[in-house]
Amino acid sequence: MNEIKIVTDMMARYPFDDAARARIKARALRWMSHDSGTDNATALLQGYDLSSAEGQALMELAEAYLRIPDGATRAQLLRDKLRQAGWKSGNANNKLTKLIGHVMKLGKAVSGTPIDPLAMPVMHGAASAVMRGLAQHFVMGETIESALDKAHKEHREREKYSFDMLGEGARTYDQSERYFQSYLHAIKAVGGKGHISIKLSALHPKFEETHRRICFDDLVQKLTLLCAEAKAQNVEIRIDAEEERRLDLMLDLIDAISGKVELQDWNGLGLAVQAYLKRTPQTIAFLQDMAKRHNRILGVRLVKGAYWDSEIKYAQMAGLADFPVYTRKAHTDLSYILCAQQLLQSSNIYPAFGSHNAMTLAAVAELANEDRSAFETQRLVGMGDAIHEAMRAEGYNIGVYAPVGPHNDLLPYLVRRLLENGANTSFVKQTAQHDNIALADPYDLISAKPIAMHSGIRTPENLYPDRKNSLAPDLGHEGELVALQNTIRKAKSAPVIGGADVPRLFDKAHKAFSSWQKTDADERAKLLEKLADTLHKNRDHVLRLLQSEGRKTLRDAIGEWREAIDFCRYYAAQARKDFQPQTLPGPDGESNIYTREGRGVFVCIAPWNFPLAIFLGQCAASLAAGNCVIAKPAEQTPKIGALAIDLAHRAGFPKDVVQVAQGDGKIGAELVNHPHCAGVAFTGSYDVGKIIQRALAAKDGPIVPLIAETAGLNACAIDSSALPEQAMDDIILSAFGSAGQRCSALRILLLDDKATPAIIPLLKGAMEALTLGDPFDTATDVGPLIDGDAAQNVREAVQNLKQKGAVIYECTGGDHPDCVPPIAVDMTGNPLPDAEIFGPVLQVYRVKNLTDSVKELNSRGYALTFGLHTRLSSREREMKALAEAGNVYINRSMIGAVVGVQPFGGHGRSGTGPKAGGPNTLLAYSHEKHISNNTAAAGGNISLVVLQEGS
Ligand code: NAD
Repeated sequence: MNEIKIVTDMMARYPFDDAARARIKARALRWMSHDSGTDNATALLQGYDLSSAEGQALMELAEAYLRIPDGATRAQLLRDKLRQAGWKSGNANNKLTKLIGHVMKLGKAVSGTPIDPLAMPVMHGAASAVMRGLAQHFVMGETIESALDKAHKEHREREKYSFDMLGEGARTYDQSERYFQSYLHAIKAVGGKGHISIKLSALHPKFEETHRRICFDDLVQKLTLLCAEAKAQNVEIRIDAEEERRLDLMLDLIDAISGKVELQDWNGLGLAVQAYLKRTPQTIAFLQDMAKRHNRILGVRLVKGAYWDSEIKYAQMAGLADFPVYTRKAHTDLSYILCAQQLLQSSNIYPAFGSHNAMTLAAVAELANEDRSAFETQRLVGMGDAIHEAMRAEGYNIGVYAPVGPHNDLLPYLVRRLLENGANTSFVKQTAQHDNIALADPYDLISAKPIAMHSGIRTPENLYPDRKNSLAPDLGHEGELVALQNTIRKAKSAPVIGGADVPRLFDKAHKAFSSWQKTDADERAKLLEKLADTLHKNRDHVLRLLQSEGRKTLRDAIGEWREAIDFCRYYAAQARKDFQPQTLPGPDGESNIYTREGRGVFVCIAPWNFPLAIFLGQCAASLAAGNCVIAKPAEQTPKIGALAIDLAHRAGFPKDVVQVAQGDGKIGAELVNHPHCAGVAFTGSYDVGKIIQRALAAKDGPIVPLIAETAGLNACAIDSSALPEQAMDDIILSAFGSAGQRCSALRILLLDDKATPAIIPLLKGAMEALTLGDPFDTATDVGPLIDGDAAQNVREAVQNLKQKGAVIYECTGGDHPDCVPPIAVDMTGNPLPDAEIFGPVLQVYRVKNLTDSVKELNSRGYALTFGLHTRLSSREREMKALAEAGNVYINRSMIGAVVGVQPFGGHGRSGTGPKAGGPNTLLAYSHEKHISNNTAAAGGNISLVVLQEGS
């Protein structure tokens, strides 16, 4: 859905004439001038601009401080944050901001001084008080009872409360059960005195489109029970909006609930919709139609949207065709008005409008002809007090969205809300800064310039300046997902597989090289770009083979297919940049030209675990640098290799320039040993890497270079400042994604013993929620290993571990004979391992000192990937310098390096470098030539002699 087209269309349908716009502005001004004191959000934003170092440090402190279990780590966090900013002032205009200002200023003064150890406990107490104070202002209560009590005490029963049992989404079935019980409890406790907001991702750990088969019925059952109780208690339910990729699933769920016989003649069902989504008008139309079908009134709360930055990032990372959200705030504001109009005109919808923007709310009142009964408004506790108070005084129905829950759980959420409201374009911030723009009408803002997307936000396709990004189907949409599965199923299967007559292959390649080496870098780049497009066009065929022969899940297969496309485009751009002759500066009368050129026939040997991306990546780099290629896929994945080379030929590469050699290690050795082998690109195990290195060293003749990417022994260190849920997502993905068959996969979890109580139960629960089995089933998280031998090796390694350590959790299920259930073993007390186990096996070490453990790990000699989860900047600095790894990942997963973004590869026993998909890759595939020519040799330096006087 094209943003410009939609906005143009919305502008044409803008509902207000000049008189109405004047009324809206006057109304907004009237509400804004209502003096009920500055609310806390406004005061905080006035005191601490969130884009300043102080504002950011304060938010980071708030996000982590209360949930850190041990004093030492909390103290370190405080010291880090005190150091991060000046803390000279804080525009102290209310009690909370004043307190923050004093505490931080004092802390800054004593931190690092001799009295630091004495002062720290006092600082602790003060910082805790500040953080609790912050939480108390934005959280209604730590329990539903205390929240109700507070509402009662503040005499605010006149306002309708929507209580939200907030927190992170569930990662485990246990957590989802706890959330379910707390919703049930809240419904009973509230009994007719408010709404309860429900987050579906809290009710199921796998609330995702790909896992519809697993979560749908369970969620229908849980929601039905909650709604039935709500009906009995006369409580209304509001389903919260989440990321766009969950929306199809959410709407189908609501449809299923809405149609339940036992919930008929109950008008308490409702949900939130987000104006920043381009598809919201269609969503509202669907909801109206659904409510009519079920003969009910549906409560729909319109908000602007809470996940804007993550929607943008997700679309860019997933390579979606376009953003699901608008890229400009004014477009969202306009969309809000049109969605509000649509809601007000829908016969079966009772709308609520969640906003802190006086102009938006004034526009809503205009749309409703000031009919007080047509809608209600909603604000967040601690925000937008003045405007809503003014509206209440004029008889409007005012609601409050009231977060309820333990402060430790809520602060991360709270911080997100504050950041959202603190963003530059936010109304709360603009009013805090008395910015005139706060009163601007979106219509005026948009019509001032040609309608366009925000130029500072790169669309997924144009993420990179010098090449197109690979795009992919959107797995968050049921229609697209089902269509993709169907076309993959229908794609033709195996191509013809040849043998490998090594002398003949070299003969042809050697002959082809004499003309291929003369090709211009630009010509080679164009062929690579054509290959990228050919791969894109043959998506279904490629994905089918990756799934059937490579045993990949759909998500992994798509990731690999995109990576192969990215390699082709990236190396094409590199060839254009680095392979043009360069004139070097030097004395007059001499030309100095530096060039690079192909080495000859390159042998590329790939592993089975990335049979397309690594295989074709090696080929693409060799070709880009001007080499001919003989490429050997792993014996486990010959069909994918054959298809890749076939596609290269279809894209226009001459047949003898790039050839495939099928076979096992013996064929690999023959290729390496051939006298015409001018270079080897190898990815695979350390042992084979060493065999190849020795074989090359033993050869007479030219010194043949080896580019080797080998095994890793990858660890992730987690301290007690990490957010457990975030860490868990990354642990599960890194250790068990692709059934642990990635060289970058997490093998060793180094767990600070203070983090253990939070992490271990979560790990068990998150492993329990994994689905094992058929890679063609989109709900499968962990598929089978590549073959029986691999499975057998991993099973033996697991048996060995079981004798030395204690099993934390071992998954069950997966009826494929080569499935090895993911396992986590507590190996504390044992030395760290010496080598990788290439499967879904996680070795956990509870440690007292992360630094010592990382030193021990370094001594093993591998250096591929290293992960770290922490909120301590001091820890981050230390680990970045200490960990021997080619790729260090902080507060994210350790897998899925993106070409040109995270150049990938290690050193030591993990490889020679240069990294794949990095700025220096092609240099290793080429040799350099320099031509220095004395241009003054015959007849002197003409160019110097003819220089004009005075120029
Ligand atoms: P492997 O070493 O067994 O095989 C890799 C390739 O080498 C295959 O094509 C194989 O046929 C070939 N080969 C085997 N013996 C040979 C010989 N004597 N001479 C020449 N070629 C020979 O590895 P694998 O099992 O296919 O792959 C898994 C391994 O690869 C793991 O150790 C993993 O960590 C590593 N890997 C590393 C990276 C990285 O970028 N560092 C990426 C993927 C995989």
